[in-house]
Amino acid sequence: MPSKSNLLLPQPITAERYNSMTNTQHDNGRRNFLQKSVLGTAAAGLAIASTTHTTAQTVQDASEPEIMNEIDVLVIGGGTAGHVAAIQAGRAGAKTLIVERNSQLGGTTTTGGVSFPGLFDAWGKQIIAGIGWELVKESVELDNGKFPNFAKVPQRHWQNQVFTNQFLYAILAEEKCAQAGVEIAFYEFPQTVEQTSDGWQVDCVGFGTRRRVRCKQIIDCTGGAEVVGMLGMPRLREEERQPGSFLFMLGKEHQPGRNQIHRLYVHGADSTNSRTATEANLTGRKSVLARVRKEKKRLMHMQPETGFRESYRIEGETLITVNDYTSGRLFEDAISYAFYPVDLHTKTGVRPKPLKPGKVPTIPLRALIPKSSKNIIVAGRCVSSDRLANSGLRVQASCMGMGQAAGAAATLAAKMGTTPLEVPLTKIHALLREHGQIIPGKA
Ligand SMILES: Cc1cc2nc3c(=O)[nH]c(=O)nc-3n(C[C@H](O)[C@H](O)[C@H](O)COP(=O)(O)OP(=O)(O)OC[C@H]3O[C@@H](n4cnc5c(N)ncnc54)[C@H](O)[C@@H]3O)c2cc1C
Repeated sequence: MPSKSNLLLPQPITAERYNSMTNTQHDNGRRNFLQKSVLGTAAAGLAIASTTHTTAQTVQDASEPEIMNEIDVLVIGGGTAGHVAAIQAGRAGAKTLIVERNSQLGGTTTTGGVSFPGLFDAWGKQIIAGIGWELVKESVELDNGKFPNFAKVPQRHWQNQVFTNQFLYAILAEEKCAQAGVEIAFYEFPQTVEQTSDGWQVDCVGFGTRRRVRCKQIIDCTGGAEVVGMLGMPRLREEERQPGSFLFMLGKEHQPGRNQIHRLYVHGADSTNSRTATEANLTGRKSVLARVRKEKKRLMHMQPETGFRESYRIEGETLITVNDYTSGRLFEDAISYAFYPVDLHTKTGVRPKPLKPGKVPTIPLRALIPKSSKNIIVAGRCVSSDRLANSGLRVQASCMGMGQAAGAAATLAAKMGTTPLEVPLTKIHALLREHGQIIPGKA
């Protein structure tokens, strides 16, 4: 006699019976649907026996309950500036979460494949150090790579950029986040951002995940100041933008940390949203395919997405002009140096305009703070600047310097219960110096 519980539950389904059920799916559409519904409700969690001794569970809903985070600092975008900001915040004791919509840290430096950071030095002296440099240095050392001779002023600026292994860099960035106590959420992005009395409530989504974050400070490191855009704060963008680039390797192996990857322009590349970014990727890959057909060489390597040189910049508490940039203006609230030629790519290519001897631009804290905002700061290529200044400021070492400064300012603001602009500059400088950064004008 079957027991009472066996009468109530459907009999276990063997793999064979399950296959025969699914094989007749087309003939028996409705019956099969009913069968599945019954199984889904009455027998959730029922083991399916198989001949290979594995068991499967009948699962109704694989999504997790909403995740809740109560934190000090939320970094959105884990790219070139973002992971540095998060590591700084974590090391300084802030409870920190980094939300990155892609699958790894590093952004354009890793996923974009532009692992050639510059410039950490100017006129024979190191000007940017801290966390970004620590990561680049460790990547090169672990990879048995080579550093340029920074003591020498190079003929061409790129001679002092550092060949970095993009894969190692991404893993080391994860390791340093873990060591700093920074939580990472890949494949997620913010859906809504609301101001609260003491900070923010940010609802993020990913596939199968929903997350509610309550934080005191936001650092927007999305490249194009997407969070600032979501909040309806003004952003700057030109009618004509620099082309993006797609990176690949044709006919020879990509040697990470040893050589530069081939690249082709993606004109009109627009990182505004997933539709425009999709278009850029499709255009980029189509052009790569055309190259393969034309040159009849093997495609040996390809990055997963387009690198975007330009999109939106914030309208900050101050704006860095090209004059400020080329004259090496020492802003009174400078938090980092920057160094690179004015480097505007156009339809026909690029002609970098080197800075005059001795000039070293600086980045003021106010250029990282959206005008009239509270409890939000940005870092990276979206820094408040005019287009020409931005063409030089956007490079990786400068973005890393900005990231570290934003991480320090946000952490102190969270601790002091204030907004980054109100944190005494001396405190930001002291924290940055403690974490290895070089402060402009304070040799
Ligand atoms: C083709 C090309 C060549 C370049 N060459 C050099 C070079 O040789 N040397 C150099 O130093 N610099 C170079 N640059 C410039 C430099 O790489 C970039 O300007 C810099 O890396 C930008 O850093 P970022 O942190 O602002 O943005 P990114 O590094 O792009 O990071 C932004 C991150 O935010 C994430 N993100 C975006 N939106 C969201 C969202 N809503 N939610 C969650 N995550 C989000 C992205 O996935 C990404 O990881 C080049 C740039 C390009 C495109």
